[in-house]
Amino acid sequence: MVRIGLGLLAIIITIGCQQRKQEKPTIPDKPAVVIHEEYLGEEPTKPEETEVYEPVPPMVAVDENDVPSDAIVLFDGSGFDEWSMTNDSTEVVWHLNGDGSMTVKDKTGDIQTKRNFGDIQLHIEWRSPAEIEGKGQSRGNSGVFLNNLYEVQVLDNNDNDTYVNGQVAAIYKQYVPLAKASKPSGGWNTYDIIYRAPDFSDDGQKIKSGTITVLHNGVLVQDHVELKGTTPYIGWPKNPPHGKGPIRLQDHGDNSRVSYRNIWVREL
Ligand code: MG
Repeated sequence: MVRIGLGLLAIIITIGCQQRKQEKPTIPDKPAVVIHEEYLGEEPTKPEETEVYEPVPPMVAVDENDVPSDAIVLFDGSGFDEWSMTNDSTEVVWHLNGDGSMTVKDKTGDIQTKRNFGDIQLHIEWRSPAEIEGKGQSRGNSGVFLNNLYEVQVLDNNDNDTYVNGQVAAIYKQYVPLAKASKPSGGWNTYDIIYRAPDFSDDGQKIKSGTITVLHNGVLVQDHVELKGTTPYIGWPKNPPHGKGPIRLQDHGDNSRVSYRNIWVREL
């Protein structure tokens, strides 16, 4: 009797274990395929149906100084051929240095390109002096004016606070930069700027704002911002109708001693 009882007990335990094994959830080796209703009944898309072969982008080589082959070189240190004084269109009197750079000559006025530009990609390098002089807006102040009207601020802001919509890499009095990316005073900075000019109707009304994107030393500081108009020191932005215009560099008139080098532009 005892032997039969033990036998029955063993059978019950075995069946119990098998049932428990069967209850264990199975893990699928692939995620379930979700079929969206809107695609039901459609033929599967072939890879080549979503491939295009035109337009073929042009080849743009880059030389040992990272200047693109389709760029117009505006300044390479050899002279001011591409520039003139803004005031009277005469020859540039700023300092031409022996190291491939130029420096603002105080109180002589702005300089500007002889050529006019609309939409552009602009590369420009600048530095403020290592020897600190002045404070606020009077320390290493210059500026890059696009289309002769819209200033991307150049300023030595290192340990030198000012109003943030007038600090380095600001769209002057319009847009505060997203970051402060300056090199230490005396170091060379790069600006890579993409500018799209505004559009005006035949009767001179602005129908589309211009836009500016700026990378400062490779850091995005202006992200396709919409220009509100001109960037004056006093007053509000204005929107005079215009076509192409020169690129202008500012003499702030307070011994800024800002230098520039390696300036090139690609027309877009
Ligand atoms: Mg300025």
